[in-house]
Order: sequence, then structure tokens, then C-alpha cells
Amino acid sequence: MQRINQIFIDGALVTPHGTELFDLYNPAKAEVIGQVQLADATDAERAIAAAKRAFPAFSRSSKESRIALLRRMAAQVRARVEDLTEALVTEYGAPVSRAGWMAHHAVNVLEDAANVLENYSFTYRAGTADVIMTPLGVAGLITPWNSNAGFICGKLAAALAAGCTAVVKPSEMSAMQTQIVMEALNAADIPPGVVNIVTGRGEVVGAVLSSHPDIAKVSFTGSSAVGKGILKAGAETFKRITLELGGKSPAVVLDDADLNVAVDQALQAGFTNSGQACIAGTRILVPEHMAANFAARVKTAVAGIQSGDPHDPQTQIGPMVSQKQWERVQRYIRLGQEEGATLLAGGEGRPDGTGNGWFVRPTVFADVHNDMTIAREEIFGPVLSIITYQTEEDAIRIANDTLYGLQAYVLSSDLARAQRVASQLEAGRVAINGAPHEPAAPFGGFKQSGIGREYGKNGMEAFLEPKAVLVPR
Ligand code: NAD
Repeated sequence: MQRINQIFIDGALVTPHGTELFDLYNPAKAEVIGQVQLADATDAERAIAAAKRAFPAFSRSSKESRIALLRRMAAQVRARVEDLTEALVTEYGAPVSRAGWMAHHAVNVLEDAANVLENYSFTYRAGTADVIMTPLGVAGLITPWNSNAGFICGKLAAALAAGCTAVVKPSEMSAMQTQIVMEALNAADIPPGVVNIVTGRGEVVGAVLSSHPDIAKVSFTGSSAVGKGILKAGAETFKRITLELGGKSPAVVLDDADLNVAVDQALQAGFTNSGQACIAGTRILVPEHMAANFAARVKTAVAGIQSGDPHDPQTQIGPMVSQKQWERVQRYIRLGQEEGATLLAGGEGRPDGTGNGWFVRPTVFADVHNDMTIAREEIFGPVLSIITYQTEEDAIRIANDTLYGLQAYVLSSDLARAQRVASQLEAGRVAINGAPHEPAAPFGGFKQSGIGREYGKNGMEAFLEPKAVLVPR
């Protein structure tokens, strides 16, 4: 049993003032594997005070010193990539191949921010005025359990690049990842108070961050319901707020798509991160006349997808993070059948031989109508819906008929046509034919998938305020 009892405040690893103990699980075995001592509101206040003290000097620090700082942080996190990979598999259930990517992602986001900073000018001329991009103040950064380490590092990277100091509230369910990140950052020679990490409950520590007058900016990744509460709480003090929320992303298969690759690409987009991904392509839109062929290929392909032990390199789908999440996914699989969709692959229950772990059978429904609950609500598990369409216009209409707008996918053999369709989709990002993540490009949602953008120049500017100095010239 691992016992975690540290938080990071004012440049030191300290024991929290809070005393509540929270169980940590191995989702592959549904077993308690550790406990974390949670921070409380007093800890959150201390962290904010430390970040506030550090802000005046840090906000005036040179670009070069911040680039060097981000690179030191990246080097220290890189030195812990193996530990982080193991924690991601053990504590979150990420399949080992995916966990390795996620651990490196935590390093890459720090390097990427250093690169953005290298090419960024904090001042520019607008007519006769000098515009100075000015750091906002103390940032409150709140992360979810899926890829917690990557979100901590990514949000910190953008905030620090801009010259803000920060208090991070990581997910309480991911304390092992957070401990490794804290130890790495503690070794990175960060000026005291610039980074503070306070693991506690959302409704306690998160609530302090989203309402405290000394927090100028909140950047949140998580569910739409909590995001809405943060927006309301922040209104009182007019906080700048970035929200990265849920999705119900369409994967539009055009009628010229090569099904030899499109089926796998659509399934990969849908089952990414065991389906526990905000960007998962969970609605697969297929031309009506190709539906039977597509469904037959999907059935064969899903039969070959291994859902089980995340340490096995052959595993593509790991367990759900918690009992609650497992039950939620089961409920949607039941609901899909009750609503009249055809169960093409998977179904309720656990895959064979997976014991008590929170494993789900990779599930695909056919004959789904876009107004069924399984096509409208974010399930956050490996459950996909195939929806048919008649014409390209019809496909675009169905793709956009959702409250969300985070990501979309287009599959076609004609790149120009795919780009034309992409331009009509209401989504913050559209990936054509399995294109990989691009860290220089903005990431974030249209509609109820969020507010603002992360990554690249846009991500850093979310922590800056333009100040125009009018000069008689
Ligand atoms: P969640 O909203 O339950 O929790 C996210 C974080 O908010 C956690 O740290 C939690 O402790 C904290 N929190 C909870 N209540 C709070 C409150 N009242 N005030 C302040 N903070 C509070 O989300 P989750 O279950 O951890 O993550 C899954 C959700 O995250 C999904 O909906 C998914 O789509 C979304 N997500 C979005 C993105 C994106 O980039 N758009 C990425 C990953 C996950």
C-alpha cells in the first residue's frame, strides 16, 4: 500500500493541513492500492498566498530564464517517464502502449511551451500604440483523472511561459501520477511559490480556486457540469476562464473512403484511451449504401481488439477508472438496446478472463439514430454508435447536431473534399485520415465543449492580457 502525504507549496514538499484519507485503486483488479492524504481549504489558501508572493518577480522574469525553467522541468519529468508510465498503468489502467505515449506527452508539453516562448514577442505595435502582452496573475489549474500528469504539465507550461504563477488542483484519483510530477518539479529548481500543487477534493480545494479573489485565471479540464459551476463561481470576481469539457465527436466516413483503412481509423478514434477520452470519435457517420459492408468489417475488427490486462502490450482497451465509471458505461449499453439500436459487437458485462477489474467489452451499436441518448450523451467508455446518412450535406448536418464541438474526424480518399467537409464541421479540431496531434495548433471546443483554447501560441495567450500604451508619435 502506497501512502501519499505530500503537497507542493512555496517550493517545498510538505504534509497537508487536511487530514482526510482517500483510497487509490488499481482499476484492473478493483483493489485498493494506496491512500492519499487530501489537502483542505487552508492548504489551498496557503498555496494561493505563496503564488501571489511569487508573482511580482516571476512576471518580470526574462523570456530566456522562463525558457530555461521550462526545459529544466521537462528534463526532470523526462527522467521519471518510466515511473510515470507504470503509475498510469497501475492507477489509471491505461494500456501500456498508450501509457508510454501519455508519459512522454507530459514532457513534450513543457518542451513545446519553451519553443512557443522562443518565437513569441510580448510587445507589438498597433497603429500608434504599443501593445504589451501582460501576465494575468495567479492561475488556478484544475485537472481530470484521464491523463492527469499531461494536463498538470501542459497547463503549468502555458501559465509559466506567460509569466503567471500557479496553483494546481489535480484529480484526487490520480495521486500517484501527481506525486511523481511533484518530485520531478521539486528537482527542477523552480523559484519558490511559482508552482504549487494541492491534491484535494474538487468541492473543497477546487472551489477555493474558482472563487478566491487572488486567483485571476482558472484553466479547467473536466466534465461540463463542473465546468459550468466554475464559470458561475468565477463570475463573482470576473476571472478569466478556460474550460476544456466533454465531447460527442463525429467521425464522418465519406463515400469515397477506403474501408480497408477507414474502419480501423474510425475504431481507433473511438476507442482511444479506452474510450475515456474527451476527443473520442463516438459517432461514426457512414453513407447508407455502405452501412452493411462497414458494419460487417467493424464486427470482424472489434473481435480482434483485446480489452484486458493493461500491462499486456497486445491490450488496446484497459479498464474503466472506477466502479462508478464502469456502472455508467454498463447503463448506456443497456440503454442503447432499450432504445432500439442493434448491438453489433460487445455488450454488457466483462470480457472473458478479466476477473473483477472494471473492464468493459468494446461495444459498437448499428442502426443508431442521432437523437438516441447513446448518440447525444458523452459515455466516456468504449461504446460507439454507427449512424447512417444519405448525402454529404446530410452528414454535415448530423455531425453538427450535438451540444458538443470538441473534435471531429473525416475519412476520405479525396483530401480536398475532406478539407471542404472539415471547414463545415462545428468543432475546435478536425483530424483528416488519422492525422496525429499537432501541438502547435489550438485545441479546445466549440459550443458546450468549452471556452478558450490550449496549446501553442493560443494556449499561452490564454494567460495574458493585452495592454495598449498610447504614445504620441
Ligand atoms: P470532473 O469534472 O468530475 O473533475 C475534473 C476536476 O474537477 C477534478 O480535479 C475534480 O476534483 C474537480 N472538481 C470537481 N468538483 C469541483 C468543483 N465543485 N469545483 C472545482 N473543481 C471541481 O471530471 P473527470 O471525471 O475527472 O474527467 C472526465 C471529464 O473530463 C469528461 O467529461 C471529459 O470529457 C472531460 N475531459 C475533457 C478534456 C478536454 O480537453 N476537453 C480532456 C479530458 C477530459
